[in-house]
Amino acid sequence: MENLNQVQAEPRLNLYHTIPENLADIRVEEIDSILPGPSLIHIKGNVSPPMFISVLLHGNETTGFLAIQHLIRELNLTANPAPRDIILFVGNIRAAKKGLRRLDNEPDYNRIWNGDNLPEHRLAKSVLAMLSQQPLYAAIDIHNNTGKNPHYACINKTDTSFIHLARRFSKTIVYFTEPHEVISMALSRHCPSVTLECGFSGNTEGFNHVYNYLVQCLTMPAEELFGPPSNKHNDIYHTIAKITVPENSHLGFGNCERNVDICFREDLEELNFTSVPKGTKLGVSGRNGCSLTVMDNNGRNVTDQYFRIDNHAIVTRKELIPSMFTKNETIIHQDCFGYIMEPYPIDERTR
Ligand SMILES: [Zn+2]
Repeated sequence: MENLNQVQAEPRLNLYHTIPENLADIRVEEIDSILPGPSLIHIKGNVSPPMFISVLLHGNETTGFLAIQHLIRELNLTANPAPRDIILFVGNIRAAKKGLRRLDNEPDYNRIWNGDNLPEHRLAKSVLAMLSQQPLYAAIDIHNNTGKNPHYACINKTDTSFIHLARRFSKTIVYFTEPHEVISMALSRHCPSVTLECGFSGNTEGFNHVYNYLVQCLTMPAEELFGPPSNKHNDIYHTIAKITVPENSHLGFGNCERNVDICFREDLEELNFTSVPKGTKLGVSGRNGCSLTVMDNNGRNVTDQYFRIDNHAIVTRKELIPSMFTKNETIIHQDCFGYIMEPYPIDERTR
């Protein structure tokens, strides 16, 4: 009964037509002192249509927000116009304040861009409705990883303009269609759209990489940004399945305590974006036979195609390329254990 008092107010969208004062200097943990909640901020530029940039959909992934703050300071955007109009969406303020991906009682802000049961779905709808009133130049959603991964860009369509926008960030590109409730998917219906995965949150290298990328995108003419003929040295992967662990399972890594449900190998994150041979041991399942589940993009359970249990060991049944393997137990339970990808020979298809 006492839960009734804890029902949170529906997240309201805050609109700004100029950069709020001190936004460029505020610490992420204090962001709510300037932005009371999810905010759409219009930054005037010399040319239209605007570039859409979203940050902090996951509250613990700060690189995008830090890069935007740097952009505001470096280009003195409180006094001068930007090279191009920008519409900035700052997502999960409450989670960002606490340094969490999301709060326990709310959905993942990068899974609300399709659907209508939750207050957050209505929030997402109002953002999309505003954006659909005008053409957009491109959409860039900025994230970090909790596990060790290269910097890479994700696309949800394989049109040439999407590949070019992604390629400008990284030679490693991931094409995915699931989860389909992400913001980049919704915006891929309006304009070329990418998700940037910039390594660990707060890492200087990721910060510099994103900042330079944003400056390029804001200043480069369209013919250059979305063309010309592609550099064929891309590593494009297609996400084909998602790996999860049982809900509430207790996980360990390396030298595990006795009571863990699955004890994974210590160097798990080193396997991301590598070709893991058939017969590789990922971990050992505990007393109750807890194991991994693999679901393909159509929601079919395909675990048996990828893993077998061999005397409690979880062993790959075929060669596979994983991404987003992480040792962060909270993130594994809030999101997933990782994805399985396969190479996607895109250059031949788009020419
Ligand atoms: Zn994220």
